Amino acid sequence: KAKKLGRNQVCFFETEMQYKFQNRLRIESELRTAITNNELEVYYQPIVRPKNGELKGFEALIRWNIDGKIRAPDQFIQIAEESNQISDIGVWIMESVIHQLSLWNTNREKPLRAAINISSSQLYDFELVDKLKEFGSRYSVDLSLIDIELTETVLLENTKVVKEVIIKLTELGCRISLDDFGTGFSSLSHLRHYPISTLKIDRSLMPKSIEDTKNKNIVEGVTSMAKILKLEIVAEGVEEESNMQLCEELGIDFVQGYFISKPIPSSEAEKLFL
Ligand code: C2E
Ligand code: MG
Ligand code: MG
Ligand code: MG
Repeated sequence: KAKKLGRNQVCFFETEMQYKFQNRLRIESELRTAITNNELEVYYQPIVRPKNGELKGFEALIRWNIDGKIRAPDQFIQIAEESNQISDIGVWIMESVIHQLSLWNTNREKPLRAAINISSSQLYDFELVDKLKEFGSRYSVDLSLIDIELTETVLLENTKVVKEVIIKLTELGCRISLDDFGTGFSSLSHLRHYPISTLKIDRSLMPKSIEDTKNKNIVEGVTSMAKILKLEIVAEGVEEESNMQLCEELGIDFVQGYFISKPIPSSEAEKLFL
């Protein structure tokens, strides 16, 4: 009897693994035609000053619209990386965002900025730098308006190539942001080896309530360290008024989160400023 149960268990795991594997293969192959089928879309989330709501610009966040169903990046970015498709997707995002920025900034006194996320494997690809340069001149967008968002794990890899590409990006004028600060090892000491301009405090550090003094103290500590290092600070995950107030009190430069707006399609984003 025990033997039989054991067999069933094996079958259960096999089925689940098969399901995951097949799902993955399906996404991997559907992704190969996503760009040509016009299924990828850029959503934009506003980044504002807590004091006066002044719009700094937007973070570009990819969405995959497949038959009207929206897939979020956590459902496909890793698969794109592992199946060597992230490079094409990355180039597509760059062009879409730079083109959009050129349209939005026409006749604007103070140009809007755009932040673009880059995964680690994209930094091993020199094409990225060439393409950025090409799109900057094609659409007449000053690349100093582009913030490249990297996570700490990328910096921890600490390879020569990564360092070189980051330096090349800054030579184009791009600014480098450290995304999701507070989720990983989060040491500010290794930052000095890289030309980082902005620290993005991860949303998991935002206090969940007024009583959440632990997170409040952490945000305060991170903010004062960032200021000593002369880094610009963006707080993510600002979901309620109290978060906004805290950021203003602490002198955090910019905020981003559902309290201000969710990521939205470009047609909605432009209503915020046009
Ligand atoms: P991220 O760069 O840290 O982006 C912020 C994520 O937090 C976004 O999720 C955004 O929708 C979500 N968010 C913003 N405000 C709030 C809030 O107030 N509360 C909560 N709970 N969540 C909030 P999203 O769009 O699902 O993206 C997830 C991650 O996928 C991003 O994290 C980024 O690492 C990656 N990603 C997104 N677009 C791209 C892309 O074009 N290329 C690459 N390589 N990665 C991307
Ligand atoms: Mg980001
Ligand atoms: Mg983040
Ligand atoms: Mg993230």
